Amino acid sequence: MKSSARVVVIGGGIVGCSVLYHLARNGWSDVVLIERMELTSGSSWHAAGGLFTVTRPNTAAEIHRYSFQIYSELEKEFEQPCGFHFTGGINICRSQDELDSNAMMQSACRRLGIESHFISLAEAREKAPLLDTTHMVGALWEEEGGHVDPASATQAFAAAARKLGAEIYRHTPVIATTQRADGSWDVVTENGNLHAEFIVNAAGLWGREVAALAGVELPLAPVEHHYLVTDTLPEIEGLGFELPQINDNETGAYARQEGMGLLLGAYEKTCTHWALDGTPLDFGHELLDEDLARMDWNFEKAVELMPCLAEAGIKRIINGPMIFSPDLGPLVGPHPALRNYFCANGVMAGFNQGAGIGRVLAEWIIQGEPEIDIFCWDVARFGDWADKSYTEQTTRYFYENRSEKIFPYQEYDVGRPIHKPAVYERLRDANAVFGSSFGHEHANWFASSPDAAYDSLTYRQPNWWQAVIDEGKRCRNELGLMEFSAMAKFEVSGPGAESWLDQVMANRLPRQGRMALSPMLSASGRLAGDFSISRIDAERFLVLGADYMQLAFMRHLNRFLPAPGVEFKNHSADYGGLHICGPNARALISRLAGDDMDNASFPFMSAVEMSIGDIDQVLVLRVSFTGETGYEMYLPMERQLALFDLLRREGAGLGLGLVGTRCLMQTRLEKSFPAWALELSADYTAAEADMARFVKPDKGDFIGRDAFLNAPAAREKFATFVVDAGDCAIWGDEAIFLDGEPVGYVTSGGFGPHCEQHIALAYVNCDAYRPGAQYAVEILGQLRPAELQSEVLYDPSGSRMRT
Ligand SMILES: Cc1cc2nc3c(=O)[nH]c(=O)nc-3n(C[C@H](O)[C@H](O)[C@H](O)COP(=O)(O)OP(=O)(O)OC[C@H]3O[C@@H](n4cnc5c(N)ncnc54)[C@H](O)[C@@H]3O)c2cc1C
Repeated sequence: MKSSARVVVIGGGIVGCSVLYHLARNGWSDVVLIERMELTSGSSWHAAGGLFTVTRPNTAAEIHRYSFQIYSELEKEFEQPCGFHFTGGINICRSQDELDSNAMMQSACRRLGIESHFISLAEAREKAPLLDTTHMVGALWEEEGGHVDPASATQAFAAAARKLGAEIYRHTPVIATTQRADGSWDVVTENGNLHAEFIVNAAGLWGREVAALAGVELPLAPVEHHYLVTDTLPEIEGLGFELPQINDNETGAYARQEGMGLLLGAYEKTCTHWALDGTPLDFGHELLDEDLARMDWNFEKAVELMPCLAEAGIKRIINGPMIFSPDLGPLVGPHPALRNYFCANGVMAGFNQGAGIGRVLAEWIIQGEPEIDIFCWDVARFGDWADKSYTEQTTRYFYENRSEKIFPYQEYDVGRPIHKPAVYERLRDANAVFGSSFGHEHANWFASSPDAAYDSLTYRQPNWWQAVIDEGKRCRNELGLMEFSAMAKFEVSGPGAESWLDQVMANRLPRQGRMALSPMLSASGRLAGDFSISRIDAERFLVLGADYMQLAFMRHLNRFLPAPGVEFKNHSADYGGLHICGPNARALISRLAGDDMDNASFPFMSAVEMSIGDIDQVLVLRVSFTGETGYEMYLPMERQLALFDLLRREGAGLGLGLVGTRCLMQTRLEKSFPAWALELSADYTAAEADMARFVKPDKGDFIGRDAFLNAPAAREKFATFVVDAGDCAIWGDEAIFLDGEPVGYVTSGGFGPHCEQHIALAYVNCDAYRPGAQYAVEILGQLRPAELQSEVLYDPSGSRMRT
């Protein structure tokens, strides 16, 4: 065994072997994989190996497509058989909602060129003659669907990695991982020790145990999962071609051909956790006791679709464990609490996702950042709030409801509430419908009565449509009050604060009493964050950004910390926020501040600590994402309630009403203000996102400056459209067409309360950006006319915010 390597990957399942392969493929051959038993000794050996590519979000689709394509590459380039069957796939639709859901996925996947199209029921029967289509209303055909042999595919990555110089040590359990002062790691195994620059935890079912060796907890819980394989079926034997992968999402079931029989797997109606308190260290190539009765409901539904199953003999039943995160998505990337420690855990569909995760992690380790935005699967999306109980509840809920569709803006009650703002009861009493973000409750909108305080689930216009428009009108015409705590709030102070922030942020820092908007760039010039920075004192700044990104932001910032004379504090949980906006906002703040807060004394982008009524030391920022005159106020959470009551009381005569986050997100559409995770993410450069005006290369050196100056020409251009969506709605990810070809995609959409039109913010390929051209947005399978806007729709001069 070697005594050192650049990277040690712990775990030889599909994910670990793929990470090893991609590191070696990218030129890092001094890399090692350590496996406690034989390769595939966790979930990987007993998987069904089914593959599909039409999925959401787009990052997941990109990963699935990459993974799908790599198997034939491995077979050709390295002559390693993967048992790859390229059969295509059928998504069964039993309802209009499922048709809509598939239409949305199809449209979203156009961005990546993933081919899918709806087929008639007769065509579905041609492609899969054993289907009884009586219960179907339609079907989506996905070109890239199929299956692999799980053990062969895993071994293929391992063999290819070895050919590229990587080493694999089997029967070598890792029993300790300790970090040295320089950030490198000592990996202690039963067969000797290794010193490594980086560790990758790819320990699958033992991800929690391996994480604990480094002193961290991962939010993961294993569950049992069944599939069965039938005896030979005459209906298949006589076919003469292989059946496609059949996905019946509404019943949580999937099927494919196995030999001359069928493999049928299901997300059972009852989730059975396994080894919640820890995966046994001696578990290996075993299966769990089968309990096929759990699959009864799924099986009955499968018989509706494939009647030949009713009489089929069952050759094999598999009940195996797999391990999930709270939202069932993988936990990928550098652990935010550790240096040089990467996670590749909780991978639900390793044969669809393992290759892509390997690619992303290899890029992250070697280049310092991945080439696509992977935040939807970033390990940093969960904080301490995702504890054992939360993880148990959510994994149970999402497993059992796997057959439920995911609707736009859908919130899940499971595991909530966790953190409530001080004004929570006031909001609830006003019929708030809450959402949750990074464990924090916030009001999405306000209903007219307790009975109406829920979200209806639809791909068309939901029950909250008009209420949110009315809240927007209140902000435009009178005065809105919004609970505003769900922000990442960092305080940076000390004699070194200014020069440090100047290094990590791309814009010039504001002078005292002022604020500035600033992107944060990665070394490659892509967006790593987007903040408002307020300079409260000469040496004290408050940096505000998207709340759910706080651990990811801190992970990035920690790369440049500690720094001399810099104190960095995360106040995200302990500071509360309130926001007032609208034409009457200035009258209210002036009354409470005891001063005429006119443009001379408190202009747009001011940031000052002041007394509001009898409440001291409130940090007031003059800014609003709605595009109206607005003031954000921050103070310790325990004083939020007093400020809220004061604002409500004093604002009553000024038309003040409570408004929620959805209204904020719709009003900003009229201003073409981009939002993090929608228009802004690591997928874009500052220039592509129309943020170049906030980047100041002439201020001196800062992270990402060289890349910004040398950036290649932008591929896509940020755009605003008004769309003739009728009684439908635009939610995001819809394809934009020009001359019959997809040329862009919507990043977010909604209804402008002032202009009373459907608005889409979007990216369009630069060569297809043609003002006046006849665009169309694909909404639920229909092409709807869309007009590219050359001017911001509401108050283009910005006078409402500024005066
Ligand atoms: C019944 C069933 C059907 C499935 N069907 C599909 C499907 O159709 N398509 C699909 O994409 N996915 C499917 N999956 C999911 C798939 O199996 C998993 O996503 C995948 O196997 C996870 O791989 P992994 O590499 O993360 O983990 P694992 O396969 O669990 O591998 C982890 C490895 O780490 C090793 N290890 C652990 N601790 C240590 C240590 N301390 N030292 C050294 N080594 C260690 C283990 O021995 C093991 O070999 C299915 C799962 C089940 C249970």
